[in-house]
Amino acid sequence: MPLVFHNTMTRKKEDFVPLTEGEVRMYTCGPTVYDHAHIGNFRSYIFEDLLRRYCKYRGYRVIQVMNLTDVDDKTIRDSRKKGISLAEHTEKYIEAFFEDIGTLRIERAEYYPRATEHVAEMIEIVSGLLEKGYAYKGEDGSVYFRIDKFAEYGKLAHITPDLLQPGVTVSSDEYDKESVGDFALWKAWDEDDGDVFWESPFGKGRPGWHIECSAMSMKYLGETFDIHTGGVDNIFPHHDNEIAQSEAYTGKQFVRYWLHAAHLIVEGSKMSKSLGNFYTLRDLLGKDYTGRQIRYLLMGSHYRQQLNFTFEGLESAKSGLQRIDDFLARLEDVDSSEADGDVREQIEMTRQGFTSAMDDDLNISGALGSLFDLVRWANRRMDRGAIGKAGASELRSFFEEIDAVLGLLPEEVGIDPEVRRLADERDKARREKNWKLADEIREKVRQMGYVLEDTPKGVRIKKIG
Ligand SMILES: [Zn+2]
Repeated sequence: MPLVFHNTMTRKKEDFVPLTEGEVRMYTCGPTVYDHAHIGNFRSYIFEDLLRRYCKYRGYRVIQVMNLTDVDDKTIRDSRKKGISLAEHTEKYIEAFFEDIGTLRIERAEYYPRATEHVAEMIEIVSGLLEKGYAYKGEDGSVYFRIDKFAEYGKLAHITPDLLQPGVTVSSDEYDKESVGDFALWKAWDEDDGDVFWESPFGKGRPGWHIECSAMSMKYLGETFDIHTGGVDNIFPHHDNEIAQSEAYTGKQFVRYWLHAAHLIVEGSKMSKSLGNFYTLRDLLGKDYTGRQIRYLLMGSHYRQQLNFTFEGLESAKSGLQRIDDFLARLEDVDSSEADGDVREQIEMTRQGFTSAMDDDLNISGALGSLFDLVRWANRRMDRGAIGKAGASELRSFFEEIDAVLGLLPEEVGIDPEVRRLADERDKARREKNWKLADEIREKVRQMGYVLEDTPKGVRIKKIG
């Protein structure tokens, strides 16, 4: 069975054929680091993590790039408001971002390039586009992409340039452009930028947002690469602009498969600060939910379906995970020498059910469904004492195998639940910078025979001895 993805470009499911056999090169639009990311952002990042992990499970070598936008209108505005340097301001949110993805068990990408460290590459592309006539310098000194010159402009969103209306793509800034859809490749310096600028052949200024992704993706992945992901709100204009710039510059196809995650809404409404339904990951951790539970909820429905985030859903994610934890704990307790029976056969059937669902454009509900079928089957068997030690251990290893994709299992199986609870409590104390309480809990846990180790992936619980 081939791996199949829905390609936004064609609006069809297509067999995935990578450019280089056995390798997946993918680019993911990353965060703008001016604030904490919200759960809508994390929905996309978790979909991308699932995609990455599943490709690895299928035996591909994955090279993933996720950019960090550390210069734009908002980062400059906020750093100036605080009277600190741009780097000082963004560094804080970059650190928070890595902490958050650790909490959500999102695997690290191979590269996290920062926009401010790739301005030279961006200048090179802008120069090339000027030379070829795809770009021009506006009266304000900024450089714009001329969309009329790129005949296929809008092909990803299936929008034709004559449909563009004033206000659709124009940012709050007014620039002097030839046509309303033209977008800035390079923004000329103005007073609001303060000390944030780079020198370039077309004057002092800073790169536009879209050019970042073209420069950093092509630098690490090549001029044509396999997969580009993002949220649906990135399709237009951001991804169409990336395509226009990159393909005009190289004369080659930019990306082969475009995958987009649908929106997240909260309790039936669009998430917004004014409605009071806007949540960062930290808000939810503050309500005593764990990264695992939030991950499970954000991952559990198909990425192309709108996800309605509710606290009821979070509670059922919690009980779903509890069922898995209870099952694994029960396997630990199996102490009979009963023959395996058909455990191996059941596992093989589940593996096939899991992979054929995931092969079909990451059908996660189908995949989880087959796992829970196995849990039910094995629980019934254990009720009758019909699973032996060998069968239990095969079931456990199968869950560990699948967890390379899901990232949902507790760090270690067979840990005293009270210790796990204390570890979560200490985690919370640490986030609140209550170091005294955190140390007290660590000591208490030590007396119970466990050590807590802080790792980039979160806290690890280890039995002493
Ligand atoms: Zn991007």
